[in-house]
Amino acid sequence: MVEGPGHMAMDEIEANMKIQQRICQGAPFYVLGPLVTDIAPGYDHITSAIGGAIAAKAGAAFLCYVTPAEHLALPNVDDVKQGIIASRIAAHAADIAKKIPHARDIDDRMADARRKFDWEEQWNCAIDPETAKAIRADRSPEIEESCSMCGKFCAVRSMNKALAGEYIDIL
Ligand code: SF4
Repeated sequence: MVEGPGHMAMDEIEANMKIQQRICQGAPFYVLGPLVTDIAPGYDHITSAIGGAIAAKAGAAFLCYVTPAEHLALPNVDDVKQGIIASRIAAHAADIAKKIPHARDIDDRMADARRKFDWEEQWNCAIDPETAKAIRADRSPEIEESCSMCGKFCAVRSMNKALAGEYIDIL
């Protein structure tokens, strides 16, 4: 396994992947992020996930996660959690784009669960169900078939009602 870069502009990542793979004769190649900008200390799990998604799509064999504490401190447990989740999202997004068989099955399940407002199934599909549940519980909507973002103006709820031939009450 060959170690790659940790800092790289977005437009340079794909070419770097190809050059490294050629020089290393196809040996597995992993990247530390890479961070696509250096101005976001405290958010380097995000800057690295952006780079990691591009790198994975371009052929990286493995993504090394980066935590929000990168360049600042020894990561704590929550930092590690944030970093791993960000990296897993990047890797999964790349798997979908690479059309790896069944990679997007869970996304399709989530889309169907959202359409049906099946919250338990949404938690089953979520990469971090604890956080998702906590956010919904903290800002509960008036009605179960929506969230507090749009309430009765929920487009999903309105479409379900339209398809069922039901009256759409928005007031
Ligand atoms: S209320 Fe708005 S944000 Fe929430 S599920 Fe419906 S359309 Fe989406």
